[in-house]
Amino acid sequence: MREIEKLKEEILKEYPRLHKESGFTFECHTGVSCFNECCGDVNIFLTPYDIIRLKNNLGLTSGEFLKKYTLSPFDENLKYPVILLKMSDNERKSCPFVSKDGCTVYPDRPWACRMYPLGLASPKEDDEKLNEEFYFLLKESICRGFEEKKKQTVREWLADQGIEEYNRMGEYFKEITLHSFFQKGGNLDPKRVEMFFTVCYNIDKFREFVFRSSFFEKFAVDDTVKEKIKEDDVELLKFGYQWLRFALFGEKTMSVREDILEARKKELARQAKEVKPGK
Ligand code: SF4
Ligand code: SF4
Repeated sequence: MREIEKLKEEILKEYPRLHKESGFTFECHTGVSCFNECCGDVNIFLTPYDIIRLKNNLGLTSGEFLKKYTLSPFDENLKYPVILLKMSDNERKSCPFVSKDGCTVYPDRPWACRMYPLGLASPKEDDEKLNEEFYFLLKESICRGFEEKKKQTVREWLADQGIEEYNRMGEYFKEITLHSFFQKGGNLDPKRVEMFFTVCYNIDKFREFVFRSSFFEKFAVDDTVKEKIKEDDVELLKFGYQWLRFALFGEKTMSVREDILEARKKELARQAKEVKPGK
């Protein structure tokens, strides 16, 4: 993890900053001499949306996917849990999804695989100018794609790789991970770490929690929303983010049911009465 922090620092200080209209020369295809070389011994952080796309591609539950294909490294400096794609236990430490013909989960490959050779940085600096998100080129020494002749802009590359939906979902995730609670040094207690993990990474378990607990007795949720989140993982994830903002940061993103609030008020009033005579 320290190496990753070091790389982040280097990127912010030294890498040329690219924007949507910046151009670069690169192409990756089955004919390059390094074909598949990059699909091994690599740290691929999975986003919540990546996990949904991959587990559905493989016909697994999120719990099964997490168990079989991921690692959740522990580091005391981490503010929230992260998930890494687990490389195979062979000499090349190959990605579990690579075959001689390429990526076997290509239509649902993770954000990081789509982005390469581009990276995206979201600096958190005091200076507003330095604070702007920017793209950068990650030039791996094994990669011969930079010797190809194809020119494109960052915008064209992103469109070609189908990144838009991933970025849209990434924006919701960033509302959690870049929240001022964390920026100001806030830490999650173990119960809230578990909440974060379940919503963000184990969506099927979150669905069970929502539909099999007293969740809907506590929160007012529209029937149309209930219908949507019953089947649709992406809608459920968006709903989960709303709930996390309520449960982790105290934002008013969920409405607690009136009758529950009333009952709570009455209970508090009753407790206050009980306390008075003993004063
Ligand atoms: S998911 Fe696909 S593209 Fe990404 S490293 Fe694995 S095989 Fe390569
Ligand atoms: S190393 Fe570069 S050019 Fe080679 S397969 Fe990977 S991304 Fe494509």
